[in-house]
Amino acid sequence: MSVFKKIINREIESNIVYEDDLVIAFLDISQATKAHTLVVPKKDYQNIYQLDEKTAGHLFKVVVKISQAIKKAFQPDGLNIVNNNGAVAGQSVFHYHIHIIPRYKGDDFSIKYVNHSQDYSKEDFIKIKETIINSLS
Ligand code: 5GP
Repeated sequence: MSVFKKIINREIESNIVYEDDLVIAFLDISQATKAHTLVVPKKDYQNIYQLDEKTAGHLFKVVVKISQAIKKAFQPDGLNIVNNNGAVAGQSVFHYHIHIIPRYKGDDFSIKYVNHSQDYSKEDFIKIKETIINSLS
């Protein structure tokens, strides 16, 4: 059983900030930044590919609601929404979750985006776009 399922079942302690029938939100134990919060569906979805539409929609509403509460409470200078899927993407708990990471000037959190646009021709972009479009079902 995942650590988040144990939190949902109250088998281990956590600092819960919100809960309803479908989702729960609690402080991430690492506190990458102050008020770093996780929003988690109660059902055992491992990753984004397993999420159903109803849960996904509701989950994001809760993410917005909690982000607004954190903004009101702590006045961060910015905020990242992060979701890791798969170990290679940094996922360490295999129960779906969204990180709300408030950002404060001078904090030490980072996500690095490297610009690789020079490696792609206009045709490459079109080909990638069309491949995605063709995969939408
Ligand atoms: P991931 O790396 O899977 O995207 O994120 C997992 C997160 O779960 C990490 O940020 C980690 O700090 C958090 N975490 C792991 N174990 C616990 C725990 O027992 N309690 C809480 N509140 N958070 C946890």
